[in-house]
Amino acid sequence: MKEKYVIGNGIVTDGFSFLINDGAISIEDGIIKQIGKTNDLKKGNIDYINLEGRLVLPGLLNSHNHLYSALATGLAPRGEMNNFQQILNNLWWHLDKKLDKESIYYSAIYGLIDSVKYGVTTVFDHHASMNFVSGSLAIIEKAFRKIGLKGLLCFEISDRMGENNIQSQIEENIKFYEKHKEDKQIRGALGLHANFTLSEKTLSTISKQKPSKLPIHIHCGEAIDDLKYCQEKGYDGPAHRLYKNGLLSENSLLAHCIHLTETDYKLIDEIQPTIISNPESNANNNVGKMNTEKIKKYLLGTDGMTGNVLGTMRSHFLQRNGNINNPLEILFKSPAEITNKYFNNSGKLAVGNFADIAITDYKPVTKINLENLFYHLIFGVEGQKMFMTIANGNILYQNGKMKTIDENAILEKIRIAANNLHRKFNE
Ligand SMILES: [Zn+2]
Repeated sequence: MKEKYVIGNGIVTDGFSFLINDGAISIEDGIIKQIGKTNDLKKGNIDYINLEGRLVLPGLLNSHNHLYSALATGLAPRGEMNNFQQILNNLWWHLDKKLDKESIYYSAIYGLIDSVKYGVTTVFDHHASMNFVSGSLAIIEKAFRKIGLKGLLCFEISDRMGENNIQSQIEENIKFYEKHKEDKQIRGALGLHANFTLSEKTLSTISKQKPSKLPIHIHCGEAIDDLKYCQEKGYDGPAHRLYKNGLLSENSLLAHCIHLTETDYKLIDEIQPTIISNPESNANNNVGKMNTEKIKKYLLGTDGMTGNVLGTMRSHFLQRNGNINNPLEILFKSPAEITNKYFNNSGKLAVGNFADIAITDYKPVTKINLENLFYHLIFGVEGQKMFMTIANGNILYQNGKMKTIDENAILEKIRIAANNLHRKFNE
């Protein structure tokens, strides 16, 4: 790791409160020491990287991902894929049951390498491997440490293997959370698959065992079936069911939030959990769109589709015909706040914080300021790979190359793991 260096001659922005033309950042022992003009920071014979006019952003947050699905490309589903339940049964639930130590690790490594290339420095992962529960999060943790990103990890508890199998899933979450309470790089959440795969008995068991501060991370109202299931059980909707079971708090992470009722929206308004929309995944599964009139504050996740958060925003923008309210808040301000909740001195591109930085490969030729930054991102950066990604001051990726790992050697191992996984999937 370089101990002390300056990146300069860039357009430096935190995405919402400042933008500096001909800007620079000095980094020392992994921390941002100064942000300013290149001439002021490039002094003496300091180790200097010339960004040649590129746009510099904070490291991005992917607030809902499934690294376990990173090796799924090319798998032929085991049956019909006409609705959400069939997609789960014939692809994802069949896949996650085949995951073992090797495939969990290399799937995470592969997904994280992809994330780095798109400037992501923090990932909230939602893991499932129903036949390899205990110790699965520690394997993913190892992958995060190898690649060098921050992660909020959880195991998705579900009754789909039978109510009798949930205890090990609950314990995997709670033990991991307890062990990482003070960790600077890796933290734990409580993963829940979705209301419709959690019985009344299971929810109450979880509620009794959950430490009060442990946040839940759940698919909430993703498809209409989730809403119907909650209503059949006598609740007003998915958020209402979580609330009634003592699981909904301001620390909750609710992914999707498409099929909700007025009661659900009211609860979300009052309690202010973090809402994560996953537009590419929603289009892929044909489950509808989140109502952004009802839910104004939200983040974006990729839901295992890609590691590309800016690309996901581009899809979101196009799906909504250009009508996105507060796009910079969605991409930068809210992620800065939520990242800082779990990781001290992280999230915002600011002096004193860890140097988590995404340097796009885009050199604007037209005027750029905070008012038009979003359009430079959509039409200039276009969700392309970064020029550089820095996490905790470490340069992880530069000019098309992973810098801290031998990518080709690891790809060979990933290929072997993927082949083994695909063989098991098709057995
Ligand atoms: Zn998901």
